[in-house]
Amino acid sequence: MHRNRKAKIVATLGPATPDRAGIEALFKAGVDVFRLNFSHGSHADHQERARIIRELERDSGRPIGILLDLQGPKLRIATFADGPVRLEAGQTFDLDLRREQPGDAKRVALPHPEIFAALVVGAELLLDDGRIRLRVERCDDTSATTRVITGGPLSDRKGVNVPDVVLPLSALTEKDRADLAFGLKLDVDWVALSFVQRAEDIEEVKSIVAGRAGVIAKLEKPAAIADLDAIVAAADAIMVARGDLGVEMPAEQVPSIQKRIVKQCRRTGRPVIVATQMLDSMVAAPVPTRAEASDVATAIYDGADAVMLSAESASGNYPVEAVCIMDRIICQTESDPYYQEAIESARTPPERTATDAIGCAMRNITQVLAAAATVAYTTTGHSALHMARERPLAPIIGMTPRLATARRLALVWGVHALLIHDVADVGEMTDYACRAALNQGFAEAGATIVISAGLPFGTPGTTNLLRVATVG
Ligand code: PGA
Ligand code: MN
Repeated sequence: MHRNRKAKIVATLGPATPDRAGIEALFKAGVDVFRLNFSHGSHADHQERARIIRELERDSGRPIGILLDLQGPKLRIATFADGPVRLEAGQTFDLDLRREQPGDAKRVALPHPEIFAALVVGAELLLDDGRIRLRVERCDDTSATTRVITGGPLSDRKGVNVPDVVLPLSALTEKDRADLAFGLKLDVDWVALSFVQRAEDIEEVKSIVAGRAGVIAKLEKPAAIADLDAIVAAADAIMVARGDLGVEMPAEQVPSIQKRIVKQCRRTGRPVIVATQMLDSMVAAPVPTRAEASDVATAIYDGADAVMLSAESASGNYPVEAVCIMDRIICQTESDPYYQEAIESARTPPERTATDAIGCAMRNITQVLAAAATVAYTTTGHSALHMARERPLAPIIGMTPRLATARRLALVWGVHALLIHDVADVGEMTDYACRAALNQGFAEAGATIVISAGLPFGTPGTTNLLRVATVG
């Protein structure tokens, strides 16, 4: 089974598709990677979803990626004594650490000492996805007095964003550590880290994950954007997390930041996911707005590896329709002659590595010979990533003896992952590649394919071979 598009679809699971039939419908409609969002749901819920995904994978023979999304240091206010309060612009509002004391219209607890340690006069606090805006007028280690800039209703446990300061917070909370340990036992393929502030946050998670999954940095803080190159270099993949990003930074900056991130990821061969509100109106309606269709297409024209559904697939009324429409927008965009032009013009020169040089040559040969498919024989997935970096016209078959690699490649632009046995020599590899291209429906007898590999086989990071073959 293969899909007729290059860009991939990530869909979040939730109550909208609680059972095998629901998840299978999403998969059939086009999902390549399922996201388990640990901000919601119990461990038992996630375990059951992972079990169903693996069952679908076995039945379909197509590797499926599972992405564990850690909540990260999401900050929240505590609760109010008598339900929601209303803050008026111009009034003062106090925040403190006295969690045991329920809030009112004058104050509420913000049970995060790290915030008070880092706050400065003039900093802004954004509550409830930025609906309420407070400016700090006085602060010490346990409390702050703020002026309400934008008022409105405020209720229990609403989220708090502090864009102006780098918080002395570990990227992993106690909950994240427990979720991560649990997720690794479920054999997830990707772990996404929320509210990344610095490259060290990624290193910390990588040291725990120890290669068992790829690590995705969710970019949703100004500090992360300021340190973009280092964070992209440290991470295995990136998510443009536009939800929180659009709270922490002005909405009008999100499009250019998105383009910058996608570009940097393409330059360095890191998979990049564009996420949040892509088809948001489809939570409640069976069709998207024109602006949403255009938003998905923009991410595709920019060359993103994947686009993501959140509430649309997790809790909306039209989860399968949302995936179908996303699939159709991607296919339509990729068939536009201007698409190829856009992809070409945004390509950056190869980096000075053998892998990139071979990727670049592979694309050229593919074009000159009008090859039906490219095949990357890959152990860790590294060489397939660098073939994808070139965004070749023909599909990339990522042949790998490692199941974990095949699953991880489900996220990557243009890669159709295929699990194979170890191969002994170049002859056997070539036979395998030709048969795979034929059997998977990418090439007919007589067609040309281009194969890359690393010798000796099984040694990661040794892409050094390029082979042109004719499918027999
Ligand atoms: P979230 O991340 O859905 O976990 O908040 C994505 C985003 O902020 O866009
Ligand atoms: Mn977020």
